[in-house]
Amino acid sequence: MEESKKIEGVPQVQILQEGHPLLRSRSQEVTSFDENVAALAGVMNTVMRGANGIGLSAVQLGIPIRLITIGEGVLREETWALVNPKIVKRAGEQRTREGCLSISKGKWWRAIKRSLRVVVEYQDLTGAPQKVKAHGLLAAALQHEIDHLDGVLFTDYVPEEEKKEMAPRTKQYPLINRAAKRAIREANHG
Ligand SMILES: [Zn+2]
Repeated sequence: MEESKKIEGVPQVQILQEGHPLLRSRSQEVTSFDENVAALAGVMNTVMRGANGIGLSAVQLGIPIRLITIGEGVLREETWALVNPKIVKRAGEQRTREGCLSISKGKWWRAIKRSLRVVVEYQDLTGAPQKVKAHGLLAAALQHEIDHLDGVLFTDYVPEEEKKEMAPRTKQYPLINRAAKRAIREANHG
């Protein structure tokens, strides 16, 4: 049982913080749909839920592959993983207020512009092609996470003049809450 949570090549689960070069890199396409990808998606789901996040990308855990998990509108225990997700259609506009597990909380909740509706094509954990139509919060979450796969952070959309008002970066990002810490501990120790 304990072995099942271990991810090959990843000794410890941690959430990378802004400034880490991987967060600015382009994540690689997933080509083999093996148990490691499924295990990683499971760990991502646990960490995302534990941190009360509605989305997470693999690169935030230090694994730069095109894999995201989304919690919005999904039962808590379920893992909704999108592999190689691609936005194929956008419509409308919305102002969203976002946070990110990789960015210090002092910079959260800046209003930014996102598409109101998106259509995303992706593969599930078996490699089968899937498609989802989303609007509102779910559409924003998908855009936020898919941006991570291309090295884009939500703060990139904050206007320059507002950036100056943003709280200075803290040295060590405190995890959002105890539940997140526990989720990470459990992921590390099985
Ligand atoms: Zn994020």
